[in-house]
Amino acid sequence: MWQVVGQTKVVSLLQHSLERQALTHAYLLIGPPHTGKMTLALNLAQALNCEADEPPCGECTSCQKIASGKHADVQIIGLTSEGNSTEAKSRTEISIDQIRQMQHSAGLPPFEGRYKVFIIDGAEFLSNEAANCLLKTLEEPEGKVTFILLTANERLLPATVISRCQRLGLSPLATAEVEAALNRRGGIELEKAKLLARLSHGCLGWAISAALDTGLLQQRTERIDKLLNIINADYEERFTYANQLATQFRQSRGGVQEILNLWLDWWRDLMLVKVGCGDIITNVDFKTTLVKVARDYSLAQIKNFINSIREAEEQLRQNANPRLVLEVLMLDMPRRNHG
Ligand SMILES: [Zn+2]
Repeated sequence: MWQVVGQTKVVSLLQHSLERQALTHAYLLIGPPHTGKMTLALNLAQALNCEADEPPCGECTSCQKIASGKHADVQIIGLTSEGNSTEAKSRTEISIDQIRQMQHSAGLPPFEGRYKVFIIDGAEFLSNEAANCLLKTLEEPEGKVTFILLTANERLLPATVISRCQRLGLSPLATAEVEAALNRRGGIELEKAKLLARLSHGCLGWAISAALDTGLLQQRTERIDKLLNIINADYEERFTYANQLATQFRQSRGGVQEILNLWLDWWRDLMLVKVGCGDIITNVDFKTTLVKVARDYSLAQIKNFINSIREAEEQLRQNANPRLVLEVLMLDMPRRNHG
């Protein structure tokens, strides 16, 4: 059984190629974080090495070894991979040394399985030299070796590398699919599964992490509280917050982007409530608050601010001065029309 949830198009294509023994030597799996790229890559590695009649069975020794990362012929190369060295390093790019080690290993026959499988996780982080080095391998495929490149950002990969791979796009799942998958896993309350499915925006992996790590939901509640606070604050307080966010942004962009995405969800929810579509909001657990807050705004105010958030996100992506961008955003945030 293929373990990856959803992605039926990609799975049936692979299944079909497998049955006709027409798999290619290099795949590029493209999709946002947490959409199942690694799960699918491991499934494909299992399918190639499975001992059962209907691969991947998930149960034979080979499938189990691959699932637990102990199969000698399946290797993962990435920013945090150990390669052949003893210490695990955290890197900023995938180095040429890692690719050379991989090539060396690819040149040897499979040790215990039928195929050698190399999964390159975060292929967009290949250094230029590493990408060029990899290109040579992709251009001269060897018999029993399969390369699976994973990326969330295809635009950062050299076109030459992309052209040597079969591209497979993974899309976010529908909210209902995420919710159903969470309920199948069990151990998650129905209400929580519903909330996580909506917050995940179709990325099942995120929903599962958030189900296991209560800190993620706690952090979200704190961020919403802060937002509600800042909506009612005067400009001085808002600018202080803009400054804090700008400092945080310089240290790590991710956190501030998450906050802005949360704001976008929140204001989009206000709009949905305003136009009478409250049943498709993201923040289901804050519905009462959303209804109350929505009363204090006009639809135009809400729409304008949604545009302001999008603009701010775009400017930050283009490396504008974060403090200026965030201050303008604070000025644009509409005040509540009480009474
Ligand atoms: Zn198997």
